[in-house]
Amino acid sequence: MTRLDAGPDTAAELSAGALREAPARCDGPRSLVLESREVPLGGVRGMAVHRALPQRDLPMVGAWCFLDRFGPQRTRMRVEPHPHIGLQTVTWPFVGEVRHRDSVGSDVVVRRGVLNLMTSGLGISHSEYSVGDDEVALDALQLWVALPDDRRFGGPEFERHDDLPEVAIAAEEGDAAWAIVVMGEFADAVSPATAYTPIVGAEVRIAPGSRVRLPLRPDWEYALVAIDGDLTADASAEASVVTLERGRLVYLGIARESIEVASASGASIFMLGGEPFPDDIVMWWNFVGRDHDEIVEARQAWESGSSRFGHVVDHGDERIPAPPLPAVRLTPRRRRT
Ligand code: MN
Repeated sequence: MTRLDAGPDTAAELSAGALREAPARCDGPRSLVLESREVPLGGVRGMAVHRALPQRDLPMVGAWCFLDRFGPQRTRMRVEPHPHIGLQTVTWPFVGEVRHRDSVGSDVVVRRGVLNLMTSGLGISHSEYSVGDDEVALDALQLWVALPDDRRFGGPEFERHDDLPEVAIAAEEGDAAWAIVVMGEFADAVSPATAYTPIVGAEVRIAPGSRVRLPLRPDWEYALVAIDGDLTADASAEASVVTLERGRLVYLGIARESIEVASASGASIFMLGGEPFPDDIVMWWNFVGRDHDEIVEARQAWESGSSRFGHVVDHGDERIPAPPLPAVRLTPRRRRT
């Protein structure tokens, strides 16, 4: 996945973000409901995606710093070679197939049930195509995980997993919920995917007419993103109930032992969480760094065709150029909740 918008969205917002005071870490439970926004992804047909993270008031949840859903739609996806630094991309398809090629020589097709995990380290480039030349049904999540200091300067890697653990969570009412642990750990199950910070990414399905209590770690922060169906979450310390609809994210904060969720007609959600990330990050285009100068250097390296980003296997000269830098220095976007 790549971004057409370089984000933060405007210079004015950048300045506003830099001036606002915010706590270094979330200090308790929250029940902040945030909507996804539609953004253009580019390409010939201007494919649109729905972005749930980052949000103006919520740049990260644990090490998670980006969440796009592309679909459900019929499209011919052609995301040409583009670079990444400082992050892992997590691609989790629901419908359809995505062909991934990268500069460490990978050329794979991912589909439902298979995790595609790319670790950029200091630099990688990749392309993402739908399979075939026709429009096809496509629906998938792509998330980014910020890498910690002791990994972000390392080498690029790619891995794929079709052996992710599945767990059942006993119901308080109705049928048990089902979860597949994509990244990190949840409900005593651990994903085989390589993670560099304490984290969880899990798809959870709630059966129709059921109510379950999802176990949480009080020292981690969490969010739930609605994929499909109807869901209510008992999402505050005062026991108010929030309703999740498709594309909506509820940020739960920290210091919870569990969260109770229920669905009338059945629901599918994606749970994000982890240890609060220790650093403020600067995210611009497809780069995650810590300050303006790192981003400028990475942009320059991509624009000059530096070997830092390698060459995407089976591609010619096609590549996505970096957008222009903003007129102001890039600064970290901080939590405002
Ligand atoms: Mn990408």
